[in-house]
Amino acid sequence: MTTIVTTDLIGVTRGRSFPTDELESYQQAGVGWVPANSALTPQDRVAENNPWGSCGDLRLIPDMNTRVQVPNGPDANAPGLDFIHADICETDGQPWAACPRTMLRNEIQRYRDELGLEVTAAFEHEFNLGYKAPDNAHHAFSLSAQHHAASFGGWLLSALKAAGVEPEMFLPEYGKAQYEVTCRPTQGVAAADRAVNVREITREIARQMGLDISFSPKLEADGVSNGVHLHISLQDPAGNAVMYDAQSSNGLSEKGRQWAAGVLKFLPALCAFSAPTPISYLRLKPHHWSASYANLGQRNREASLRICPTITIGGKSPARQYNLEFRPLDATASPHLSMAAVLIAGRLGLQQKLTLDSSSDEDPESMSDEQRQARHILALPDTLEDALASLRNNPQLLDQLPPLLMDAYFALKAEELKSTEKLTPAELCDLYARLY
Ligand code: GLU
Ligand code: MG
Repeated sequence: MTTIVTTDLIGVTRGRSFPTDELESYQQAGVGWVPANSALTPQDRVAENNPWGSCGDLRLIPDMNTRVQVPNGPDANAPGLDFIHADICETDGQPWAACPRTMLRNEIQRYRDELGLEVTAAFEHEFNLGYKAPDNAHHAFSLSAQHHAASFGGWLLSALKAAGVEPEMFLPEYGKAQYEVTCRPTQGVAAADRAVNVREITREIARQMGLDISFSPKLEADGVSNGVHLHISLQDPAGNAVMYDAQSSNGLSEKGRQWAAGVLKFLPALCAFSAPTPISYLRLKPHHWSASYANLGQRNREASLRICPTITIGGKSPARQYNLEFRPLDATASPHLSMAAVLIAGRLGLQQKLTLDSSSDEDPESMSDEQRQARHILALPDTLEDALASLRNNPQLLDQLPPLLMDAYFALKAEELKSTEKLTPAELCDLYARLY
């Protein structure tokens, strides 16, 4: 069985399957799709005020270079994974105006055409594994936590390798039964596809081993959070690092500063895409090692944008390693949509030659409101409602976003808010642990 998939506006991968030996007949015109599927909430309810209702037809056209095949896993009787990422198109093959993968591709193309830049990115994922088991309490980062999950980790790394995902690390994290998996950076749309591949392959290995798993940002209201961290760097056409300047005190070049200034300026509105569910805001709190202010920090894991370390041991060159890590992101977000939104904000920073004035390695939480204001450090939204309001009130950013996609997005987020408004933090944790 082979499946042609799209990962939608809420980061859920959906699609249609057929016998693998018939793949050739689906390559050109893809499989059928329904517009209102893009207005599904995480609770699988079609948002009431979506732009399509019960009308319309689309095609999922496979991007054949993105096929993921993992023939074997820990369960010898389980079918192999075989799926191909698709763009959502009209029935005549024209791109569909609400396809998040097309939106990301268009943005990557704008970097090329308008800025002469290539985008390289990698997503890191944290998740909880086997967290329902009462005996699953090992010290953070311990060899015992590693060995407890050694069989899972081994299968995961080999499955990721087989799928061409280039895994880097599998490691235990700070939280109870919390693990992380990272993979190598890649260029353009493939980076977001790769994030989907990591999520789906990780879930599949857990399924085959009968282990419970969740990528939800918070499993317990006062527990350790699961983040997704997006590492981005920019290159000129010859492959030279554009964000890096060896002469600058923190390594950030002038272009790097402009890009970061754009992301920080639009960050409260960007949270509507990167921290897109009510539960995301249980994570975006001060001193959670996530992010709570729109600040840049060097090697600081509580900054929204972190300048990552470069390793110079053995004469390694810092330029190729230098990247910025975007941290107010979690796995309830669509990798394609959130990466596109971050890139748009960074592009506006470059095109408007914005000045970076909120660079500070001090802790914004320990500053007074006046001090934060003087340093132009914005607070991140406290709730999804606030994030959506920031986005609605940001014509500059809205102007860059596909209107049809935004109509669906606002409709489905309104529906999601309505259906969760009465839930306590503990009930939100239970619900989203099951949904993601
Ligand atoms: N768990 C943290 C988060 O929610 C990240 C910890 C780390 O830096 O690895 O983002
Ligand atoms: Mg981590």
